[in-house]
Amino acid sequence: MDVRDTVVEVDLWAIAHNLRELRKRLEPKTAVMAVIKADAYGHGAIAVAPTLMENGADYLGVATLSEALELRDAYPDYPVIIIGHTPDRLLHICVERDITMTVFRAEQGRIISEAAETLGKAAKIHLKVDSGLHRLGAVTADELWPLCTHKNVLTEGIFTHLALLSDEEDTKQVNFFLDIVNELERRGAHFRYKHVSDSYAAVQSPWFGMDMVRVGALLYGTIVYERNFIDLRQAIRFYTRISCLHTIPKGEGVGYDRGWRAERESRVATLPFGYSDGFPRNVPNAYVVIKGVKCPIRGLICMDQCMADVTDVPDVHEGDLALIYGDGSDGALSIRETAARLSTNKNELLSLLSLRAPHVYKRGDDEQQP
Ligand SMILES: *Cc1c(COP(=O)(O)O)cnc(C)c1O
Repeated sequence: MDVRDTVVEVDLWAIAHNLRELRKRLEPKTAVMAVIKADAYGHGAIAVAPTLMENGADYLGVATLSEALELRDAYPDYPVIIIGHTPDRLLHICVERDITMTVFRAEQGRIISEAAETLGKAAKIHLKVDSGLHRLGAVTADELWPLCTHKNVLTEGIFTHLALLSDEEDTKQVNFFLDIVNELERRGAHFRYKHVSDSYAAVQSPWFGMDMVRVGALLYGTIVYERNFIDLRQAIRFYTRISCLHTIPKGEGVGYDRGWRAERESRVATLPFGYSDGFPRNVPNAYVVIKGVKCPIRGLICMDQCMADVTDVPDVHEGDLALIYGDGSDGALSIRETAARLSTNKNELLSLLSLRAPHVYKRGDDEQQP
C-alpha cells in the first residue's frame, strides 16, 4: 500500500531497455559497470540492481563503502566495486565482504594484502590513474607498480576518468592513461579491465571503449548526446495528489510571507510535497501539471507542502493527480528543463529524489516486459 500521495515512480523496464540499447552498440567483449552510486541517482539502488544484473551489467559501481555494504547485504553474490576513495582504516572491510576497491597508493596495497592474508582471501583492486581531472589517482607507473606485486591482491582493473572538455583533450587523457598501462604491463602486470568511458564517452566516443564502460546517466535515460543517437527512455516520474482545495478572494496572499497575491479570485490547490522531498525551493516559474493544465506554484515552497494555482483547471478535485517531474512527453517539468532553470545538472536533481518520497516500481506493460 502506498503510504504517501507523493511518490517517485521508477520504470524498471525503461532501465532494462536503456542497458540493452547500450549493449547492442558495444563489442560483445566490453563489460558494463552499472553505476548506482547516490542510491542509483535517486532511483533506488537496491531496487534497480537486479534489473541491471539481469539485463547485461557485469559489475555494480558505487562511490562509498556505505553504499557498497548496503548492496552486499542485499545481494551476497553481485560483483560490487567502490569507484571512489576508501579510507585506509576501512579497507579490510572491503576485503572481508568481497568488495572491489579503487586504489592508487602503495600503502593501500600493503594494508589490503595484510587483510587478505589474515582473512585467508584474495582481494580485488582496480588501479586509478589521474590523467587530468585531478580528483583521484596516481600519475606515474612507478607509483602504481608496488600495487601490482602482492600475491594475494588481484589487479583486476585499471582506469581513469575523463574531464569531457573536448574530443582532443579526452584523447590526450586516454593516451596518458595508456602509456601508464603499457608500462605496467611491460613490467609484468595484467589487467582484465582497462576502462575510461562514462555514459557520455561510451556513446559519443566509442573508440575509447576498451574492456569496460562505466555508465550511470545512460541507464536512467536522462542523458542527451550530440552525436550517435541512442534510443533511451527516462525511467523516473514524480507526482503527488491534491490534499486541499480552496477558493481565495482577489488580493489574498498565499504561503509564508504571503509570497504571492491573487490578482483575481483564485482556486488554490495544496500539494503534499516540499523541498525535503527533493524539489528545490528556488526553481524559477515552477509548475505542476493537473489534468493536462500547467498550474504555477504560488508562494514559497514549504518543507513538506506547496500551493499551486488551479483556477484554470476544469472540474478539479481533492485527490487529483499532480505531475511534478514528467518524462518529457506529458507537458510537466522535465529533470532537464528544471536543471537548466537552476543552472545545475540533472544528476543533482535526481539525487535529491532519494531524500524522503517513497519509490514505487513498475515494469512497463506486459508486452514490453524484459
Ligand atoms: C559517476 C561516475 C561514472 C558514471 O558517470 P555517468 O556520467 O553518470 O555515466 C563513471 N565513472 C566514475 C569514476 C564516476 O565517478
